[in-house]
Amino acid sequence: MSDRLGRREFLGVCARAGAFAAVLPGAEGLLSSLSGVHRTVGDVASEPARYWEALDGGRVQCGICPRACLLAHGERGFCGNRLNVNGRLITQVYGRPALVRAEAMEKGPFFHFLPATQTLALGTAGCNLDCGYCQNWEFARSTPDQTDNKNLPPRDLVDQVVALNGRSITFTYSEPITAIEYVMDTATYAREQGLQVAIKTGGYGNTEAIQALCSVADAINIDFKAADPDVYREITTAEIDTMLATIRTVAATNVWLELTNLVVPGYNDDDAMVRQMAEWIIANCGADIPLHMSRFFPKYRFRSIDPTPRETLLRVRRVALDSGLTYVYLGNMGGDPAESTYCPKCWMKVIERVGFRVTNKGLDLQTSKCVKCGYTIPGVWT
Ligand code: SF4
Repeated sequence: MSDRLGRREFLGVCARAGAFAAVLPGAEGLLSSLSGVHRTVGDVASEPARYWEALDGGRVQCGICPRACLLAHGERGFCGNRLNVNGRLITQVYGRPALVRAEAMEKGPFFHFLPATQTLALGTAGCNLDCGYCQNWEFARSTPDQTDNKNLPPRDLVDQVVALNGRSITFTYSEPITAIEYVMDTATYAREQGLQVAIKTGGYGNTEAIQALCSVADAINIDFKAADPDVYREITTAEIDTMLATIRTVAATNVWLELTNLVVPGYNDDDAMVRQMAEWIIANCGADIPLHMSRFFPKYRFRSIDPTPRETLLRVRRVALDSGLTYVYLGNMGGDPAESTYCPKCWMKVIERVGFRVTNKGLDLQTSKCVKCGYTIPGVWT
C-alpha cells in the first residue's frame, strides 16, 4: 500500500473522528444528545453482582480482586460500589457511570490503537486501589450514593453511541474491574454492534476476572505504577504481584496492550527502578509494548509533592529506551517530540502528535508498515 493511500485512509479516520467530535463535543454535548439520562446524586443501581460466594450467617465474599472482601449485611467492599444486601452481593454502579465524556483515544493513553479517533469514555464511582496521586479521587474514592450518576444501561448507551456514529467505548477514570458486570454487558453488546472496546485499569484483579475482561476488550492499558514492591504498596496500598500477573495475562491474549507509568519524584524516578521496570516488561511482554511515562502533578494525598521536572521525564525515557523498549512516550508534556511515533529502523517520524493533534507522516495504516523502509509498527491502526 502506498504512502499516499495510507495518508488518505488516515485522513478518512480523522474525518470520521471529527464528525463524531462534532456531535459529541464533550460530556455536556453527549449528555444533551443521549436520552434517558438523569443527573441525580444517590441514583444507584441494585443489580446482582457476579464473582462472589455466600458464606455462613448471611455473609458474602467477593472474588473480583485480592482484597477478597468479607461482608456482612449492609457492608460495602473496599471499592465502595459492591454491597451485601440480605446475604447477596449487589453492584450499585451497573448502568450508573459517574463521568461520561467524548475524548481523544490518545488521552487513554492509547497511541497504537485507533489513532485520531474519538472514544466515548466513562467511569463509575469506586476503586479497589487508593493511589496517593489519584486524578479522579472525588468519585473513585466515593460510594455511588455520593456521586452524580448518569442512568445509562448497557443497551441504551451502546445504541445511542452507534446512532451518533461513535466507533468505540472506553472504560476508564476509576477501576473498571470493580464494575465488571456493567463493563462485560456493555462491551459484549458494543462489539456485537460493531464498536471497539478499550479498558484503562490498574490491573488489580483476580485472574478469572481479568480473563473475562480480556474476552470482551480490544485494547487494555494497565498502570505500571512502580517496579519496586514497597514503592508500589506505598503508592497504591496494594501488592504488586497482582498487577504483574494481570499484565502477563493480557499479554498472552490477542488484546492490544499498552502500559502507563506515572513518574513521581522521589518514588519511581530513579534509574535503577526504571531499568527494572523496562527489563520486566521486555521479559514478560516483549520490547514492542508501548510504554507511556507521564508527568505527575500534585493531587489527592500527594498534593504536597512537586510536579515531575521535565528533565526527569527526559532522563527516565532515555533509561527505558536504553534498556531495550522500542516505543516509550512521554505524557502530560504537550508538544514534546517524545509524544510522536518513530520508525525503529529508519527513524522516520511515522505519526506526529502535538497534544491531541495527530498527523500521519508515514505509516501505511492497511499494512502497519513504515512507508519509507517497510518496517512493521505494531498496533491496531484502523
Ligand atoms: S472488587 Fe471491591 S468488593 Fe470485591 S474484593 Fe475487590 S475491593 Fe472487595
